Amino acid sequence: MKTIIFATKNKDKVKEIREIMSNINVNIITMEEAGIDIDVIEDGQTFEENARKKAEEIMKESGHIVMADDSGLEIDCFDKAPGVYSARYLGENTPYEEKNAIILDKMKDIEDNKRSARFVCAIATAFPDGRATIITRDTMEGKIGRKAVGSGGFGYDPIFYPQGYQTSSADISAKEKNAISHRGKALRAMEKQIRKVLEK
Ligand code: IMP
Repeated sequence: MKTIIFATKNKDKVKEIREIMSNINVNIITMEEAGIDIDVIEDGQTFEENARKKAEEIMKESGHIVMADDSGLEIDCFDKAPGVYSARYLGENTPYEEKNAIILDKMKDIEDNKRSARFVCAIATAFPDGRATIITRDTMEGKIGRKAVGSGGFGYDPIFYPQGYQTSSADISAKEKNAISHRGKALRAMEKQIRKVLEK
């Protein structure tokens, strides 16, 4: 069975990816399980660049197939910020409760039809056999609401209202979020492509 290292320290992400990849015969392990501890500097201008850099550097270090993701929130009236800086925006150690309150305050005079936003996720899989890196990308479209609601999810979820919902992505079940989320959709697209590669 092929082993794929998933380049994250986030245990929730590993659980999600194992569920989505459960249809194919691969063993997904974390960097910790693979005994790798390198911090790749995410200095790309796009989610795709960062995901590719992480996957290719760790693939070279480990000799295994490596999958990495990069994601973030784009707010249109902020010229798509925080974008690739989502984790660092308003301070890496600032609690999200505070970050979300600041964003809501900055946007208090923005009309409803100008509050569009999206979560973006890019996933890259790098192969040690010289095969080209595969990249998938998807989005969850929506808008920034007027107040923070919900206790699920993480990060900016309480202020992000997905298209077609009257509430935030922190106020829906994990299963429902996975079905519509940027990460869920990009992961399922990656699963299809990896399946094709491994079946050849
Ligand atoms: P990374 O992809 O782990 O580097 O995460 C980037 C950052 O984007 C996170 O720290 C969050 O601030 C934000 N983010 C990405 N996906 C989501 C999501 O599904 N909900 C809320 N925030 C998210």
